[in-house]
Amino acid sequence: MNKFTTLLASIALGASLMTSGAFAQEKGTVGISMPTKTSTRWISDGETMEKLFKDAGYTPDLQFADDDIPNQLAQIENMVTKGAKVLVIGAIDGTTLSDILQKAADAGVKVIAYDRLIRDSGNVDYYATFDNFQVGVLQATSLVQGLKLDAATGPKNVELFGGSPDDNNAFFFYDGAMSVLQPLIDSGKIVIKSGQTGMEQVGTLRWDGAVAQARMENLLSSNYTDAHVDGVLSPYDGLSIGIIAALKGVGYGSGDLPMPVVTGQDAELPSVKSILAGEQYSSVFKDTRELAKVTVSMVNAILEGKEPEVNDTKTYNNGVKVVPSYLLKPVAVDKTNVKDVLVTSGYYTADQIDK
Ligand code: BGC
Repeated sequence: MNKFTTLLASIALGASLMTSGAFAQEKGTVGISMPTKTSTRWISDGETMEKLFKDAGYTPDLQFADDDIPNQLAQIENMVTKGAKVLVIGAIDGTTLSDILQKAADAGVKVIAYDRLIRDSGNVDYYATFDNFQVGVLQATSLVQGLKLDAATGPKNVELFGGSPDDNNAFFFYDGAMSVLQPLIDSGKIVIKSGQTGMEQVGTLRWDGAVAQARMENLLSSNYTDAHVDGVLSPYDGLSIGIIAALKGVGYGSGDLPMPVVTGQDAELPSVKSILAGEQYSSVFKDTRELAKVTVSMVNAILEGKEPEVNDTKTYNNGVKVVPSYLLKPVAVDKTNVKDVLVTSGYYTADQIDK
């Protein structure tokens, strides 16, 4: 090789290293702390971010905390100790992170609250999430639609479920849903036979499907031995599956006991299948790939010393500050559009849904 071809070869090598991102590894470590693997959405959030961060030249450190608070604290502490530049945290309990976030701030680490707001700490820089109030509005709107309240002559019996009371989102979902349901309860069109309303009574700790199933069984045996429950507000597919199991257990969905209208959230595969089978009525699709993308651009901006793009600077007061947020749009899905929305967007393949 003469000097000229050597030069050409090294230019070509440099270009290929650049496109393969080999130089980019210098960008540093990003800690990604996800709450649990029991719901596929969090696995998909974590894995999408892991890939996007890698492609952008970062070293992602992805950890799942198994819904165990001390575990999450230890994992985050470890990320800080190992020198992460940014932490992306989907909190289990949004109120437990103040101490570790102080340590992170002292070490100059920036923090993004991922999907769930981190409360009671000034050391939360940005929040990437969906419009959580709107999620609740969509759930209740679909419940009302499924109940065919317009055409109904008599009132409809509904029971309410809320998410985990340690998750700030659960209150937004509930409040959004009640903004639609309360006027109908007040006018007598919807009756909550159990009388159980408000997050203290209807919350479901750790979003646990088994807890929801047990509560639904109790509601049925205490209030519905001689009445029909027509609808159940469920804030998350994992709870909906438990609620439907309780309903089926006493014969709903067969004979002359039609399955009540049951809502959900996340468009998880078992629920998508249940919707197509005519059991669960609806869900709310939140494209976690988009949330991951927003988060990666926030990190890029932060580390380049720029202001990340936000579209909400009012809604999410965490008790210490209003955290600048980027809110994505949730989409309601039911039997009429679920397959189309999920397959067209490439979130699932038709095969995954049909199997
Ligand atoms: C998320 C929901 C999810 C729930 C249970 C909430 O914080 O926003 O998408 O259904 O947690 O995992």
